[in-house]
Amino acid sequence: MTSIPDTVDVLIVGGGPAGAICAGLLARQSLRVLLVDDGRPRRASEQETILPAARTALARVGVHDAVLAAAAPDRLRHLAIWGGPTMVAQPAAEPGLRLHRPTFDAGLRRWAVDCGVVLLSSCSPAAPLPPSGRVRLRFAGGCFADVEAGCVVVAAGRSGGPSPAPVLVAGPETAAFCVRTSAVPEFAEAAVIEAVPDGWLWWIPAGDGSGVLSVLVDTAVVAAEGSRTVLARALQSATGPARQVANVRLLHATRATARLRRGTDALLRLGDAIATVDPLSSQGVEKAIASADQAAAAIATLLSESADAGGILTAVWRWERDLWRAHAATAAAFYRQEERFAEQPFWRARRVPSPTVLPDPPADLPLHLASDATAATTWRRHERRLVAADGLTRPGLDDVLTHVRFVPVPPVAAAFTVPRTLAAGVAEAGRDPRLFVLPPRAVLDAALVLWRQGLLIPAATAVARR
Ligand SMILES: Cc1cc2nc3c(=O)[nH]c(=O)nc-3n(C[C@H](O)[C@H](O)[C@H](O)COP(=O)(O)OP(=O)(O)OC[C@H]3O[C@@H](n4cnc5c(N)ncnc54)[C@H](O)[C@@H]3O)c2cc1C
Repeated sequence: MTSIPDTVDVLIVGGGPAGAICAGLLARQSLRVLLVDDGRPRRASEQETILPAARTALARVGVHDAVLAAAAPDRLRHLAIWGGPTMVAQPAAEPGLRLHRPTFDAGLRRWAVDCGVVLLSSCSPAAPLPPSGRVRLRFAGGCFADVEAGCVVVAAGRSGGPSPAPVLVAGPETAAFCVRTSAVPEFAEAAVIEAVPDGWLWWIPAGDGSGVLSVLVDTAVVAAEGSRTVLARALQSATGPARQVANVRLLHATRATARLRRGTDALLRLGDAIATVDPLSSQGVEKAIASADQAAAAIATLLSESADAGGILTAVWRWERDLWRAHAATAAAFYRQEERFAEQPFWRARRVPSPTVLPDPPADLPLHLASDATAATTWRRHERRLVAADGLTRPGLDDVLTHVRFVPVPPVAAAFTVPRTLAAGVAEAGRDPRLFVLPPRAVLDAALVLWRQGLLIPAATAVARR
C-alpha cells in the first residue's frame, strides 16, 4: 500500500496523459510530486492514435521512449473518404502510435512512478482547490487524508475536474458517440475517417475481432431529432466500414466540443482541463503532453521564484490559447475541404471562412511604431524553466510579443520610432548587435508580424493620432 505524504512540492489532480507526464517531468527534477486520479472510466474513445508527426514533439519533451512503451506501433492503413466519394490512402513515412487508452494511461502512470511520483488511485480532492496549501483527499472507500502542497495543479480532463475554469471560447457543440461493432473483414487492418452529411465517422479495428466507431455529430441536431435517428442515419449514409458494421452497441456518448477555458483564480490547469481540441485532429494526446511539458516548466519556475505567479500563469495560458487557436484553424481548413455537404447543419457550422490576412505594407509606405505600443515583460520558455523577457504590447492585443521565432522584438520596434519603410527599418534594425547576427529575412518577417499585430502602422496615421 502507498503511504500518503504529509507535504509535497506539487499535487497534480488527474492521471491522464497530461497529469502523468507533468508529474514524471517534475519528479525527474527531484521535486516531490503527488498524482491523484479518481479512476473513473473515460468517456471518450477507447482506441486512439498518435500521428507519426508527433514523434518530434515527444522527443523534444523527452518522453518518446515512455510513450512508445505504453503504446503500440500503428500498423493500420489510414484511409479517408473526405472531400469526395473516393476512399484515399493517407501515406505516412513511419508508423504513428495506437493507444488502447486504459493500457496507455496505466503505462504513463507507471512511468511517472518510476520517475519518483507518488500515485494515489481512486482518489480525488475536495473542491474548491487552492493554488497551494492544504488539500483534503477523498478515497473511494470513504476515507480521507490531508496533504500540504507547494503548488496544486489540475489535469482532470475535459470536464475541468474540481474547480473548473469558465469556458471562454467554444467551437460548435459536438457530440461523440462511441460504438462497438462487429469486425468488418475488409477493414480489419485499416483505420478510416469518413465524412457523412451528419458529421464524420472514425473507424478503428479493435484487434479482438470487433471494431470501434466514433460518430461525431452536431449536438443541436441530436437534440432535435434524437440520438438513435441521427446515429442510424449517419451509418446508413456511409460508404466505408461504417456501412457494413453489425451488432452495433453504444458504449457511451460524450461532449467533444473544442473549448478554451480561462481561469479566474490562481490555479494552473493543463491538458484538456484548460483547452480541448476538435477530435478531428487526432492530436489531443500530443497536445496534452506538450501542455504537460509547458506546465512543468511553469511549476518549476513558480516554486523557485513565485514573485510574479500571476505573470507566469498568464504566460502559460497564452501559450495554451495560441496552441488552441492554431488547432482550430487547422480543423477549420479540414472542414472546408468537404464541400459535398456544405448546406448540412453540421458542416455549415464548421465551415468557417479562412481568416483574412492583412496584406504586406506597400514598399514605399513609411511605417511608425504605434503610439499606444508599450514595453512590457512576460515569461518565456527557456529549457526547463520560464524566464522573464522584455517585449511589446498595446491595448487590445492581450499578448506581449518578445520574439518572432528567434528574433527579439524590442530592437526591431526601436528601428521604427522614426518613420521608415519596411526595408529601411529592417536595414536600420540590423545595427543593433542582437539583430546584426541574424538573417535580414528573419528580421523582415518579425517586422511583418508587428505590422499584422498593429504595432507598426502607417506613419501618417501615427502622426494623426498624436
Ligand atoms: C471521441 C474522441 C476521440 C478522440 N480521439 C483521439 C485520438 O485518436 N488521438 C488523440 O491524440 N486524442 C484523441 N482525443 C482527445 C484525447 O482523448 C484527449 O485530448 C486527452 O485524453 C487529454 O488528456 P488529459 O490528460 O488532458 O485528460 P484525460 O485523458 O481526460 O485525463 C484526465 C484524468 O483525470 C481524472 N480525473 C477527472 N476528474 C478528477 C478528479 N476530480 N479527481 C481525480 N482525478 C480526476 C480522469 O479520471 C482522467 O484519468 C479524442 C477525444 C474524443 C472525445
